Amino acid sequence: GQTIGQNLRHVASVLPHRDALVDVPSGRRWTYQEFDEEVATLARGLIAAGIDKGDRVGIWSPNNPEWVLLQYATAEIGAILVNVNPAYRTHELTYALRQSGVKLLVSAVSYKTSDYRGMVEEVRSGLPALERVIYLGTEEWEALSIAGAALDPERLDSRMAALSPDDPINIQYTSGTTGFPKGATLSHHNILNNGFFIGELCRYTEIDRVCVPVPFYHCFGMVLGNLAITTHGACIVIPAPVFDPKATLDAVQAERCTSLYGVPTMFIAELALPEFSSYDLTSLRTGIMAGSPCPVEVMRRVVAEMHMREVTICYGMTETSPVSAQTRYDEELDRRVSTVGRVHPHTEVKIVDPATGLTVPRGTPGELCTRGYSVMLGYWEDPERTAEVIDAARWMHTGDLATMDEAGYVNIVGRIKDMVIRGGENLYPREIEEFLYGHPDIEDVQVIGVPDAKYGEELCAWVKTRPGSVLTAEDVRDFCRGKLAHHKIPRYVRFADGFPMTVTGKIQKFKMRKTSIEELG
Ligand code: ATP
Ligand code: MG
Repeated sequence: GQTIGQNLRHVASVLPHRDALVDVPSGRRWTYQEFDEEVATLARGLIAAGIDKGDRVGIWSPNNPEWVLLQYATAEIGAILVNVNPAYRTHELTYALRQSGVKLLVSAVSYKTSDYRGMVEEVRSGLPALERVIYLGTEEWEALSIAGAALDPERLDSRMAALSPDDPINIQYTSGTTGFPKGATLSHHNILNNGFFIGELCRYTEIDRVCVPVPFYHCFGMVLGNLAITTHGACIVIPAPVFDPKATLDAVQAERCTSLYGVPTMFIAELALPEFSSYDLTSLRTGIMAGSPCPVEVMRRVVAEMHMREVTICYGMTETSPVSAQTRYDEELDRRVSTVGRVHPHTEVKIVDPATGLTVPRGTPGELCTRGYSVMLGYWEDPERTAEVIDAARWMHTGDLATMDEAGYVNIVGRIKDMVIRGGENLYPREIEEFLYGHPDIEDVQVIGVPDAKYGEELCAWVKTRPGSVLTAEDVRDFCRGKLAHHKIPRYVRFADGFPMTVTGKIQKFKMRKTSIEELG
């Protein structure tokens, strides 16, 4: 029953001198007391700038401390933070700002080749609701806090006291892995509780220092990251504005981090660094791997070579705050590396036949549906799409295929959209990817379905080989023969240097399908 602001104030009052936030690139650090004060000053600055409860405030920037400060400051005043993906370009930016009616946009000026200011100025005139843009690092940004410091603190206290935990405070656009992103609207209650339970299952306390290389704009960064961390008085460590494997391991080593996050492709990149073995990563205890299927081999290496013996896997989606299932530190490793764990506290899960809606027997794949406090309020101003995913009994239909075993462990089989139906047989690309991943020459592999006149669909594997490999398509198929059923052996094998990806490192199979269909004519 707390709001995010109340929770932060509570933690800061109990642990004022513990580290709350460290920005490795700039060397800046905040204790909880400093962080709480700076958040409150910024919150008062937003009030002084005329931001009311329910107003949308956009943030468009790679990771930096200002992102985190703004996340908490908007929550304190009951404004709705709109997370804008830093990889967006003008078309998607316009869509997100217009769809959510952003009134104030806080934007980075630029980062590397991304000229954020140039793009904002280009689209601004077409956005009537957008009253003001403040660029980070400019005098105007500084002026917000100066105005905040001059405002009567009572103005913020009374605003905070009038908020309800059920108020919307966040619009998070989904990753866009399967198509155009949707704006999930979330409340304090949704994401504060989810963050808290995630932190519980990571066993966070005030001695933890968590390296967060995943983007804050995404729920992985702002909920599994920031909220799970601050609800437990632990410390957020920002290794770099945008994921970089070397900067990440440098930060873990320098800050003696106890926990490290990433989607599987990030861990794969870290393990592949030529200087990997020279890092001292012994401070690590745990971490989270999430967002897409986590290859068992990668999990084993993370445990053995990165010392993350308590590493957990989380499963979830933006629409459910996001986490619905998580592995626990005390479960045997085999189970931990091969499932996404059991259902999260205070959350219901059922697995149904998408055609009939009836619950399937244990072990049978079906659509995972979830219900409870974590289900979003809805897609922002889109009741139709909301009704497509949340049914009358408040079950969220995730679009993911999963199984559940007798003991309640959930296994994600894949997305309904990625399932391949070949000659009437349901094929799950994940199973074939896991198998091919065991080939010593294969660094990464993704399997998709492509249309086929005879079978309806055929399998196509995109293979990324290790440097120096001379692997041929025939070799890949030979590797499968006798070990995989004939119909699971990819008809097409194509070599690739990489895969189309979202900024969160998720592979966009719909783009791969498009490319393969074009190539195959
Ligand atoms: P969009 O909905 O825009 O296509 P998205 O579904 O990738 O993008 P997110 O909400 O960021 O957007 O991701 C949620 C999805 O990620 C889940 O529905 C699931 O398919 C996948 N996912 C998350 N965690 C795991 C996991 N541990 N194992 C397998 N898949 C996962
Ligand atoms: Mg989705």
